[in-house]
Amino acid sequence: MNTSIMIVDDDDAIRETTEEFLKFLGYSTISTSSAEDALSMLNLFQPDIILTDIAMEGMNGLDMTRIIKETHPVEVIVMTGYIAEHSYEEAIQAGASDFIFKPFRFEELSLRIKRVIREMNLKRQHEELVQTLEMLAITDGLTGLYNHRHFYQQLNAEIQRHIRYKTTLSLLLMDIDHFKIFNDTWGHLEGDKILMELGVMIKSCLRNMDSAYRYGGEEFTVILPETNLDSACVVGERIRVLFASKRFFPAEGQQTSATISVGVAQFNENESIPSFIKRADMAMFKSKQGGRNRVSK
Ligand code: GH3
Ligand code: MG
Ligand code: MG
Repeated sequence: MNTSIMIVDDDDAIRETTEEFLKFLGYSTISTSSAEDALSMLNLFQPDIILTDIAMEGMNGLDMTRIIKETHPVEVIVMTGYIAEHSYEEAIQAGASDFIFKPFRFEELSLRIKRVIREMNLKRQHEELVQTLEMLAITDGLTGLYNHRHFYQQLNAEIQRHIRYKTTLSLLLMDIDHFKIFNDTWGHLEGDKILMELGVMIKSCLRNMDSAYRYGGEEFTVILPETNLDSACVVGERIRVLFASKRFFPAEGQQTSATISVGVAQFNENESIPSFIKRADMAMFKSKQGGRNRVSK
């Protein structure tokens, strides 16, 4: 990726020669003579690095750095000729990544930019890694749905939202019927395919604001914000019918299907999380008792 650098300096000669040199090194550049202009250009240009003078007419480079670092993920290198007036500490505290005294040799500037780029890339890789790990920590590896841990976090968040905005909130709990027999008959790997397919089907029946979770082995839950009991039953029924209609081919020349039992509950004012889940679980048990492959509330 081509690194982009914005040069901010009110000394025309320094700004122009520096920009020429950086262009020669292959960076994409833009330059301006004031901090105010730099701030207004920032959203359009979005540089990776800003190379700025400190002492300028109007806002100085350190104040500009403080403002930019609060809102933009950009690295700043400050340049100054006033050794006595501005210290290295001051620049770093303002959020700068490096500091260079004027007049500088271009080779030194080039090396400092390279080091800042290296650190910037490491920082970005680290952020990506953290994001990936955060995602993995809340995802079920088999189905790609959210996991049990995230279910509790999200349910808690939705209940808080429900209390604040006085909206309705419902929960579906689903369990595959006679799944043990399926596994015993066709093997665990074929069973896994059923779980994956159910995950895909559940997702296909939901709105953006709904969220689906693999609650346990062959149990799934769905949080339905702004949904009352009857509408939640409609969603549960849609998933049940879709899943029951699916044909699986667990072995050569063999065709089978599977069903789910669904329990539905709507959140009651002042109810605890365990009590809410328990009611959905009891409704699901009712579906099992009633003959399975059905939705109960
Ligand atoms: P019911 O209709 O009453 O729910 O009967 P069931 O057989 O589905 O219920 P039971 O709780 O007896 O068995 C659950 C089965 O789910 C047993 C277990 O092997 C299977 N299971 C749980 N997790 C996984 C998994 O990750 N992969 C596969 N293939 N099977 C799983
Ligand atoms: Mg079960
Ligand atoms: Mg089961």
